[in-house]
Amino acid sequence: VLTTTEFDTIAAISTPPGEGGISIVRISGEEAFDVAKKLYRGKNLDKVASNTINYGHIVDPDTHEEIDEVMLSVMRAPHTYTKEDIIEINCHGGIVATNRILQLILSHGARMAEPGEFTKRAFLNGRIDLSQSEAVMDLIEAKTDRSMKAAISQLDGNLSHLIKHLRKDILDVLAQVEVNIDYPEYDDVETMTSKLLREKATDVHARIDQLLETAKQGKILRDGLATSIIGRPNVGKSSLLNHLLHEDKAIVTDVPGTTRDVLEEYANVRGVPLKLVDTAGIRETTDKVEKIGVDRSRKAIDSADLVLLVLNASEALTDEDRQLIQATDKKQRIVILNKTDLPVKLDVDEVKRLTKPSNIISTSAIKADGLKGLEEIIAKMFFGEGIANSQNDVVVTNARHIGLLNQAKQALEDVIKGLDEGMPVDLVQIDMTRCWDFLGEITGDSYQDELIDQLFSQFCLGK
Ligand code: GDP
Ligand code: ZN
Repeated sequence: VLTTTEFDTIAAISTPPGEGGISIVRISGEEAFDVAKKLYRGKNLDKVASNTINYGHIVDPDTHEEIDEVMLSVMRAPHTYTKEDIIEINCHGGIVATNRILQLILSHGARMAEPGEFTKRAFLNGRIDLSQSEAVMDLIEAKTDRSMKAAISQLDGNLSHLIKHLRKDILDVLAQVEVNIDYPEYDDVETMTSKLLREKATDVHARIDQLLETAKQGKILRDGLATSIIGRPNVGKSSLLNHLLHEDKAIVTDVPGTTRDVLEEYANVRGVPLKLVDTAGIRETTDKVEKIGVDRSRKAIDSADLVLLVLNASEALTDEDRQLIQATDKKQRIVILNKTDLPVKLDVDEVKRLTKPSNIISTSAIKADGLKGLEEIIAKMFFGEGIANSQNDVVVTNARHIGLLNQAKQALEDVIKGLDEGMPVDLVQIDMTRCWDFLGEITGDSYQDELIDQLFSQFCLGK
């Protein structure tokens, strides 16, 4: 077990780079107070209570130059973010002063922290587990209120809690199997043990499946729903994009095909983060610049979870439109009939026939008509019934967790297969233990030692 004393003292500027009203320099570790005492002129830090904020100045001890007027937060181990002593210096937000304070800290006993190192310490010092540490990052990067809720739930340990339950159930059965193996003189031990393993494997398998069912939506919440707006030049893609973003991020022009830069922006559609990609549309063209756009547009279709196919309702359907309908046929798609403020010349029945069973919606980007309806369709398509199958609001959002859950599931399938084929119980046990290990990697538990300790304690109780 690692203890805080094995770590050196680290420091970093914890507020975003650049000028601001206030900047915070954070120090964590055994020497945090000693370092601060060398630089801080104000109250006696040995005497101030934990979790207080104290007025004073930062002074260069070598030159006696006053660097900044500060408020200094004092947090004593172990009830801190890292479980170590923490000092946070709130200084005036200037870049120069903030950097000088950091430099002074670094030349008086602290080391520059690596990215994420404060959170890493929270993990290594046992305050949060691995999945909770990952949730901290997700929380920082959350794009919508829904994403944030998923991250907070994970940070609160709801996922960890479920995983720990699954692992405990597996350990219990493994311990029982050990006990059974120890009493081979009993009749039917083998049948009993197989039955036990099969029941538990089936049960845990079903619970993992339930978790995995939330993963698709979870991934959307965390990484965004890759959404491509596809359509011929000038049908109104950029205008629609602007509405979805609720601000003027894309360049809208009157010249066909001039949206050359592939834009990537997040839009918040009723809590669903859409990662929007605007493209120049699929066209056969000799124009070199345009061609990049076309290639990217094909790529944009491939990588999209959702395609918004825009057609110009004020013109008849063209061959290019038909090509685009075909190119997006395999995708989750919403067909947008734009420019409906103008006289409609599009054969809507033909479009319906060609794009079935996709959702179709009429809009006028210029009059902002039909956009609420579009947002409604998107939200319904992906979060119609809320989060699928969630147990206590748990949503699996992280690709690493998804991978490990799938591996754990596979190991359980191996257990069941082994039992079906009459494999010896000690071999089946290995697959069950593998499942336990995979789940442990989600929470970052040190599995080998724990397994032995746990088995031993259970074993004694059983005897
Ligand atoms: P894009 O090339 O597909 O991205 O199309 P833009 O969004 O750049 O729009 C091309 C032109 O069509 C611009 O002049 C827009 O003002 C206009 N436009 C976009 N949406 C509508 C609409 O719903 N109705 C009308 N009448 N014009 C529109
Ligand atoms: Zn455009």
